[in-house]
Amino acid sequence: MARRRQLYEGKAKVLFEGPEPGTLVQYFKDDASAGDGAKKGVITGKGVLNNRISEFLMMKLADIGIPTHFIRRLNMREQLIREVEIIPLEVVVRNVAAGSLSQRLGIAEGTRLPRSIIEYFYKNDTLHDPMVSEEHITCFGWATPQDMDDIVALTLRINDFLSGLFLGVGILLVDFKLEFGRLYEEDEMRIVLADEISPDNCRLWDVKTNEKMDKDRFRRDLGKVEEAYQEVAKRLGILPEAGVRDLKGPEMMQ
Ligand code: 5GP
Repeated sequence: MARRRQLYEGKAKVLFEGPEPGTLVQYFKDDASAGDGAKKGVITGKGVLNNRISEFLMMKLADIGIPTHFIRRLNMREQLIREVEIIPLEVVVRNVAAGSLSQRLGIAEGTRLPRSIIEYFYKNDTLHDPMVSEEHITCFGWATPQDMDDIVALTLRINDFLSGLFLGVGILLVDFKLEFGRLYEEDEMRIVLADEISPDNCRLWDVKTNEKMDKDRFRRDLGKVEEAYQEVAKRLGILPEAGVRDLKGPEMMQ
């Protein structure tokens, strides 16, 4: 296999130059981090499962007309994506109080919110991703008011659709984080969904037992982390062909 140019390495993913201009290869690692990098570990098989889960969800979203960066899955740990200009925001949607919302405002975890809330965080490791408002975002030019209109409209549709999809397999979509990018095609610019959607960036609770089926199991040392990711994939009907035995997958080529 030809050596590829690595463009970026994050905590859970690596981006390589793609086979054609305007494309990238997104590689999913098993590495996990939490608490602003304070806690580090490996969740065996996570990369394989997140590659699958994100593929599945992005394709379902494309089916209902949500533009995404996803093109196709290449192998167990890699997917081909469109190169976009990432908007430096973490867009968090909340349906149920949990995590930083509960801590910040003293709202008990598990409280159903009367309506969904969208929050924005400025993606900046040095500043520890501070929460920002639309005023900051447009004032500092991270996104235009038109970009924000598109982001809010897409985010609300994504939340409605994914909440229903997960509920159908007995999972409550508590909250999740999205990232968006600008895709330039000829003379046009479109806002598209980027990054990934997986148990790494969603809170997913079993509807009946409220059991956590996401990265909070790692963040909070709850155990059975691998099993939780597998259960999400299983309920969505997308465990890898060879089953759980296959989860280690091939080693990363560089
Ligand atoms: P919170 O603000 O409560 O910590 O997180 C809200 C939601 O966004 C959770 O589902 C969490 O997984 C996701 N999220 C927030 N920030 C990050 C981040 O930096 N990385 C990842 N993977 N997910 C995040």
